[in-house]
Amino acid sequence: MEVLVLNEGKRQNSQHVEKRCAVSPGAAKRMVKKGISLHIERGAGILSGYSNGDYIDAGATMIDEPAAALPEIDMLLCVNRPFPEHVAKMKAGAIVVGHIDPFFQQAAVESLANQQLTTLSVEMIPRSSRAQKMDALSSQASLAGYVMMLQAANHLPAILPMMMTPSGTIKPAKVFVIGAGVAGLQAIATAKRLGASVMAYDTRAVVAEQVESLGGKFLKIDIGETGQTKDGYAQALTEEQKAKQQDAQRDAIAAADIVITTAQLFGRRPPLLISKETLSLMKPGSVVVDMAALSGGNVEGSIAGEITHVHGVTVIGTGNWSQRVAKDATDMYANNLLNLIQEFYDEGTQSFNVNLDDDILAHSVITHNGSIINEMLKNAYSGA
Ligand code: NAD
Repeated sequence: MEVLVLNEGKRQNSQHVEKRCAVSPGAAKRMVKKGISLHIERGAGILSGYSNGDYIDAGATMIDEPAAALPEIDMLLCVNRPFPEHVAKMKAGAIVVGHIDPFFQQAAVESLANQQLTTLSVEMIPRSSRAQKMDALSSQASLAGYVMMLQAANHLPAILPMMMTPSGTIKPAKVFVIGAGVAGLQAIATAKRLGASVMAYDTRAVVAEQVESLGGKFLKIDIGETGQTKDGYAQALTEEQKAKQQDAQRDAIAAADIVITTAQLFGRRPPLLISKETLSLMKPGSVVVDMAALSGGNVEGSIAGEITHVHGVTVIGTGNWSQRVAKDATDMYANNLLNLIQEFYDEGTQSFNVNLDDDILAHSVITHNGSIINEMLKNAYSGA
């Protein structure tokens, strides 16, 4: 099987330069050992701390001009969506793997289908025990939680732990985390390690125990039935529930030095959690990190890709969190892809077995044989 990895950092878009690489030298070595012929565009690992030599030592071939290789390859491993100029050169039946963002990229998904490519969108990998090792959303969200907390701490004009000195006693900073999923729990753990006093809220009451096991307090808000989907995702709230949540968390936000919002709704725009009016109740110099800023925002006034100030509060919406620790992000993402390939690689035919009866591929393969085949996506595109 011929596999290609592009240097995504070389091709910038307006919002960010991709620092991660879809394959680490460690994962490359294991792919090559399986008999995979791995081609890597020169420089692909540089921004995550890996030299071309690291990949050559792992058994990969470096290439300078992907255009020539694209028509021959069986699989393109990406961090993001493939670039249109690359899609256009790929042969029918080849497989593309990456963060496709399919709910919000209908035109790109249609062009992948039109090109007769089999597209595996890593965001659609199910949250099952078997798929955990391939779960790129979780691996990147864990790092994001850590990074967001450190960024907040760097912008706060205060320290986080309690400090007792002859010059006076400093109280621990108060951190409030809204959304205690994968990223939120890592943000809580990081805040605790830094000595802060932590409170958290999530509409899924089942996570209260996890927050408490990390040393945080769970804010209890009675907004009635909320629940979660069978995949463990939050359900959207009614307008009345949203209003109740915003009222009940106002005091916790006003008292906090740092607020981190991580609320997402699978396949939809993230919910708005904090209004400008609530921001105005916070102390000047407080910091809010809006994890969802790039996809619509949890915080009114946050700006995608930027750090801004609203009523004296620093609002961080830079996004691309895991890229700030690109080496670990690359290692974890590359392991996710390696595990995916190992699960479906057929040693006999030396090919990736697109078995659509398998639960993992049935969820995550979104285009195949010229069509969009995922029902959730088809419904979303048709407005159903
Ligand atoms: P996510 O990124 O979709 O959302 C982040 C968090 O925001 C979630 O906990 C969600 O409940 C919360 N949220 C949504 N709306 C909110 C609101 N209005 N107010 C407050 N919080 C709100 O979720 P995630 O972090 O990817 O994980 C969701 C769940 O799935 C977690 O419990 C996680 O442990 C579980 N999970 C399971 C597996 C597995 O079993 N393989 C893998 C990954 C995650």
